[in-house]
Amino acid sequence: MEKLIDPIKAKELHGLIERNNQIVLTCHVRPDGDAVGSTLALWNLLKKCGKHPVVIVPDKPPLSLSFLPGFREIGIYTSHKEYCEKTIEEAELLICCDFNVLSRLDSIAPIVEASKAVKVLVDHHTEPGNFADLTISYPKMSSTCELVFRLIAAMGLYCDVDTDCATCLLTGIITDTRNFTVNVRNNDLYEILMRLLEKDVDKERILKEAIISRSLNSLRLEAFALSEKLEVFNEHKASLITLSAEELKRFDYERGDTEGLVNRPLEVRGMVYSIFMREDSDCIKISARSNDGFPVSEICKTLYGGGGHIQAAGAEFHGSLKECREIFVSNMSDFDKYMNPKLRNNRN
Ligand code: MN
Repeated sequence: MEKLIDPIKAKELHGLIERNNQIVLTCHVRPDGDAVGSTLALWNLLKKCGKHPVVIVPDKPPLSLSFLPGFREIGIYTSHKEYCEKTIEEAELLICCDFNVLSRLDSIAPIVEASKAVKVLVDHHTEPGNFADLTISYPKMSSTCELVFRLIAAMGLYCDVDTDCATCLLTGIITDTRNFTVNVRNNDLYEILMRLLEKDVDKERILKEAIISRSLNSLRLEAFALSEKLEVFNEHKASLITLSAEELKRFDYERGDTEGLVNRPLEVRGMVYSIFMREDSDCIKISARSNDGFPVSEICKTLYGGGGHIQAAGAEFHGSLKECREIFVSNMSDFDKYMNPKLRNNRN
């Protein structure tokens, strides 16, 4: 396996872990499998090393991750503000996982910013901010969990990875790669999978809990979105799904219910990218995914001031769903230039 982690940074982090006891791990708002997986993997590892780590997240993680070892110990800021605030204030070492800029911490951003703790960023998003004292950023990695796996090995702590830690790591890798279907840039990831399976991780359980299991309402909402709301723009090899607040309400929408929906149109042969717009309480949430290296991040950035990964990006739009759709539809031809020419000529 190629050694990708800068040994100087790994050593620095190892030293910080050894020297500090009050260690707080945190991740981005609306935490997903990679955010919760990476923080809980480190939490499990640090506990094994005799530390007393605490995980604090800005808001409630999805119940689909409740099988993760340590999930019940997570401090949720929106539920226990005073406790979380105090814990962050008293931290000596703050490890920030799976986000690039402080604003991704939402309401805990000012508390983290004001904290006197040594801050470490461990992340795989592009354009990392410079708020941390130690920035460990590898945007080419599939997931923060892949990065944490490599980091643990680089710190010489691999022997402390137990089944619990390994379960958290594999969950982040599986959710960020949709079970090894996207973002797998090199075969090392399969070797990492092998190493984690050797730690007795139950891969089938992770798949079932974190990816497959869902509520009946969310299944029905997805069926409705795909059958009634999917627009296909053959000229541009693109698709768009919009869901209004009224439509979401009809299916008793709960956060996470449309997780994965944006990927579904990409199953269509020849489809290059997919955009999904959802009317939220205060804005329109846009998510974009693509195949064949098409940079949906450019669409999110240029039209809506958002960003993300090349093939998985997002943005927020302040205005009506109708306006949001119009902006995309009237400008989409500007992005045809990014299309692989072989694909452009090859009609469905
Ligand atoms: Mn991630």
